[in-house]
Amino acid sequence: MIASLVFGLVVGMAAPCSVCEESSERLYGFGPYNGSVSTPEEILGYELGSRHTVLMDQERVLEAITGTSDRDRVFYYGQSTEGRPLRAVAFSSPKNIARLDAIQANLKKIANGEAGDPDMPALVWINECIHGDETASFESAMALMYNLAASENPEVVAALDKVVVMVNPCYNPDGHERYVVAYNSIPNGNGKVGTFDRAIPWPFLGRANHYRFDMNRDRIALSQAETRAEVRFVLDWNPQVYADQHGQVENYFMPPVQQSINANVDRNRYNKWTDLFGRATAGAFDREGWSYYIRDSFDLYAPCYLDSFVSLTGAIGMTHETNGGRLVNIEERDGFVVTLREGLEKHVVSAMSVVLSSAAKRDELLGDYLAFKKKAVSGDHAGDFQTVVMRGTAEDLERMQLHLGRAGVKSVMARDVMLRDARNYWTGDRGDFQVTENCLIVDMAQSHGPMAKALLEPMSEFEPDFIERQKGLANAMKKGESFPEIDSFEFYDLTAWSLPYAYGLEAWWSPKSAEIPTAMMMTGTGVYAVENTVGYALRYDERSDLLRVFELLRRGVRVSQLTKRTPVQGMVFEPGTFIVMKQRNPDLDFAAMGFDEPRNQWEVLGTSYPDEGRYGPGGESVRHLRKPSLGVVFGNAGELSGGSFWFLMDKEFFLPYRSLMTRSVSGALKDLSCLVVPAGVELPVNDRLKEWISDGGSLVYLGGDASGLIPTKSRSSFPWLPGALFRGEMDSSHWLSYGYARDAEGKVKIALPVSGSTFAEADDNSVVTVSQNGVLSGWVWDDSADVVGGTSWVQSRSMGGGSVTWFADDPTDRAQWPGLWKMLLNAMILGAE
Ligand SMILES: [Zn+2]
Repeated sequence: MIASLVFGLVVGMAAPCSVCEESSERLYGFGPYNGSVSTPEEILGYELGSRHTVLMDQERVLEAITGTSDRDRVFYYGQSTEGRPLRAVAFSSPKNIARLDAIQANLKKIANGEAGDPDMPALVWINECIHGDETASFESAMALMYNLAASENPEVVAALDKVVVMVNPCYNPDGHERYVVAYNSIPNGNGKVGTFDRAIPWPFLGRANHYRFDMNRDRIALSQAETRAEVRFVLDWNPQVYADQHGQVENYFMPPVQQSINANVDRNRYNKWTDLFGRATAGAFDREGWSYYIRDSFDLYAPCYLDSFVSLTGAIGMTHETNGGRLVNIEERDGFVVTLREGLEKHVVSAMSVVLSSAAKRDELLGDYLAFKKKAVSGDHAGDFQTVVMRGTAEDLERMQLHLGRAGVKSVMARDVMLRDARNYWTGDRGDFQVTENCLIVDMAQSHGPMAKALLEPMSEFEPDFIERQKGLANAMKKGESFPEIDSFEFYDLTAWSLPYAYGLEAWWSPKSAEIPTAMMMTGTGVYAVENTVGYALRYDERSDLLRVFELLRRGVRVSQLTKRTPVQGMVFEPGTFIVMKQRNPDLDFAAMGFDEPRNQWEVLGTSYPDEGRYGPGGESVRHLRKPSLGVVFGNAGELSGGSFWFLMDKEFFLPYRSLMTRSVSGALKDLSCLVVPAGVELPVNDRLKEWISDGGSLVYLGGDASGLIPTKSRSSFPWLPGALFRGEMDSSHWLSYGYARDAEGKVKIALPVSGSTFAEADDNSVVTVSQNGVLSGWVWDDSADVVGGTSWVQSRSMGGGSVTWFADDPTDRAQWPGLWKMLLNAMILGAE
């Protein structure tokens, strides 16, 4: 109890001693402890939970504990977006720590479906603080590490022979620091409703990371630096149990979870283990007199969460939510005070319960994991869904391959592939398909086959009882009656994400393997010999084509664009093709800029004379692009919207832009070609804005309200749609469609995320509408296709030389819908003239 004495001198919290001891007993209830390892309190000089600890001080605790114990190894596995270290510590018996590399290799072997060494431990992962302002988890990491490093309790010592415990003490350091530095700078200690402790301004809340991504929704897109680094690390270790500790609820939550559970995790296996872990944790809580709840509305359906994602790798993924945290104490209206201290105690107790019960069941845990992996490697898990073949542009396929690789899924690139008895993702047509172009093939028979299936299948199945309950409630609500089983819908998040749709790729799936005669990539483009050079043409197929043109425009090159199909010198250029004509760029040194180099893919134009018809590269149907200067309005001080757009601009498109406050937009307009308005930002529509558009500006709304400029009628539905994918109809003559591949009928394939209860009626300004009977994936009600079919998803209105483009939903949302981004870039770059 040296810790309490030290603390008492430094901070002087006036708690009665009996409470101190009881509280200390909960945090450090696994004595006796190795006296040479310092407690977190001894290092910090204050009682855990009495204030928010900053990362630098947590690091001091980590270093002090791991520096004196022989039961750990520290890993620095990456960097946050803002450059803070990402780290984790493995704890186990000294014998296991000495052979940790062999243990990792053994887990890898089991993950590939081979029996492992029965003497080797299982791996239990405890993750803290993915939501940076759920601080009880951050604080609890220090006490947890101390217990694992210093406890000489026989039960703990025996458990550390059987398991390795990987503790990640802070998944989201950027969000955590943003919040706690703001919080600690405000006089605090009173958590009553209405006090200043609760007044942290919105941009300083720490749930999300630097780009304001909720990283517990990022495991489909796998877009953020923290996500990518952690997933790579986890896939390298192959844990059997993964508990993710949060804290923002009324009372403690622990698994088992509610249906719906993604079928690819093997629901029986999952339910068996979460029941076992849930009961172990519940037993420990009952002994402390703590209440808690299970099931409720948290689900495990979409793979975007940590727990669902890791469960698809074969681990038992679980979410623990503690009360307490964020504020040092919260006084509820009945006078009950929830403290950060109690919140972190509960996380230590739940984590230790999971560790001890995993150790007690080590053999069975590893046995079930092996059985899951054997099924994965054999392909037995996938039923009829054995192979997926995707076709698209080289860049899209490479992006898809990289994306799947980030989730541990292997794929191969090939061409001339035959897929028998295959189903088309977009049309449902069944038959043998020969894909002569380059394509990407995924075989479900692999270690991460269940992950592959969950990410790629057109639709994931729901439990029949789950479906019955939601429909029962919907029907009862329509009749104004109550429904005894549930009183609100149990959808926790979106219900559709299938990657071939998200990327807008042609795709097929089949119960058979793909027949691949030769594995080779399609490369190179034609080079044409012509006598004169009047200009250069670049076909617009890839996102990079447009981004290259953006760069040329910024460097002062005058780039034009064909708006009609143009036959010239024996070639046909489709609408959207970029041209750079010598006449408009008299001072340009084309050779120095690399236009003549084949790798740059510019084709030489030797004449403006069309082979037939009236449309040539010199004609009046050619539009001239404006030098781009982009602005984004993120809201006023104290607000912040548009994080996902911000991320894509910085890390995916690499486009420069000016960030603006709403109140400074008017003054900045004269210097801009395009202004982007994320959902959540309210931009007043005034004459100045309208004049700027008419003068050639492009205004782009990422969702939100554009009714001041594009009036639309709306229709509504009941109940609301939680988030499904629908096939879209795109006006393929509109410039927003440039760069998209056309099918044999000249149509563009596009999948649209649709959610909510209000939808815009289509009218003359509609460029993309939701197809009739267009359901592709996800949960829909019986009448959803009728309600949503034919409504508008993208509106575009020309005003003078400029345009207004409105998206019904944010196309950048969660960085999860790459198939929509070309349209967004078109709106930004091609919308201004
Ligand atoms: Zn959380």
